[in-house]
Amino acid sequence: MIYFDNSSTTKPCERAVAAVNKALCEMWGNPSSLHNMGLEAERLIKDSRETIAKALNADEKEIFFTSGATESNNTAVFSSAFTRGKRRKRIITSQTEHPSVLAPIKRLEEQGFEVIRLLPDSSGAISPKEVLKYIDKNTLLVSVMSVNNETGAINDISGIFKAVKAADKEIYTHTDAVQGFLKLPINVKTLCADMISISGHKVYSPKGVGALYIKKGLNLKPFIVGGGQEKGFRSGTESVPLITAFGEAVSEYSKTLSERYEKAERLKQRLKKNVEALDGVYLHEFNNHLPYVNSLTVSGYKSETLLHFLEEREIYVSSGSACAKGKKSDTLKAFGYSESELDSTIRISFCADNTEDEVDRLVFEIQNAMKSLVRIRR
Ligand code: PMP
Repeated sequence: MIYFDNSSTTKPCERAVAAVNKALCEMWGNPSSLHNMGLEAERLIKDSRETIAKALNADEKEIFFTSGATESNNTAVFSSAFTRGKRRKRIITSQTEHPSVLAPIKRLEEQGFEVIRLLPDSSGAISPKEVLKYIDKNTLLVSVMSVNNETGAINDISGIFKAVKAADKEIYTHTDAVQGFLKLPINVKTLCADMISISGHKVYSPKGVGALYIKKGLNLKPFIVGGGQEKGFRSGTESVPLITAFGEAVSEYSKTLSERYEKAERLKQRLKKNVEALDGVYLHEFNNHLPYVNSLTVSGYKSETLLHFLEEREIYVSSGSACAKGKKSDTLKAFGYSESELDSTIRISFCADNTEDEVDRLVFEIQNAMKSLVRIRR
């Protein structure tokens, strides 16, 4: 089996699986309980919080666990509005954000907020200058993703947020860093982000856990209220097994960023070189590009058909993002893909364990697909 769909989800690492098991079988107390079992569970959460804080160069008090990046993104948007949304009504974001950013922003738009949705420029990035053009006294939030999940295009987040904060430090800055976390270095001391969303299952942990970094002193109003867990910011009994697993995976993978990056770059170059020999097959590359996420057009062949052809040979890729569920991607449209490219593009996303032999097998099978499948007629 060859798995090239790591931007959808990754295989949990052994340490994460062992941590889930241990927390479920041996340390299953409620972290809010005052007895020993509760304290033990609380200690597991604290360890995880410290590990994740360290990976972002943050303080542990700045890390809030959530059920995943969808919740982190919803919280960032809605908490901003709950806190300062009476006075400030403008939100600046990009058209290529994940739906878990776009949908809560749309909800606010329906309630009277004004939304500016920027397009990437010809280099594939949101330009800081373009963001600055739309900043005014009414601006509540600027939310721009770190790396696009469908194309791998990287945004200059610190450039954008520094410019925003220089214009008005009261504007909240948020980045969805799901696809960049543990692939690119993220240092909260230099990023100028007030909020950062991350997700466990993109970094070798189980699904259903994530975190939101919130800069100290921001005093945001919570989005999920109830029993007052997570210092009152995110109510709900913490999922100790998932949070512990998240911490274990981050501890394992935060030490090898540059080695893994170089490997992903080698795999990407191999893919690029191999497909050059095939007629009408090409990678979409952007000036600033994360080599883990690769968008590959196989002209004249429907992406879904190609995906299933590869699946039958136990090679797993994606058509667009898993969240788009086969529908034509608005994100790729926003990146300027043509109508025919929208129909015939697959995403190849790497992880630390993929090999050059696997890339060769993929290209060999794409070649076979081109011989056996019927071309799309236009
Ligand atoms: N943002 C981005 C960029 C993503 O790729 C994803 C996952 N597809 C999410 C947010 C949502 O993360 P989760 O599955 O943890 O809710």
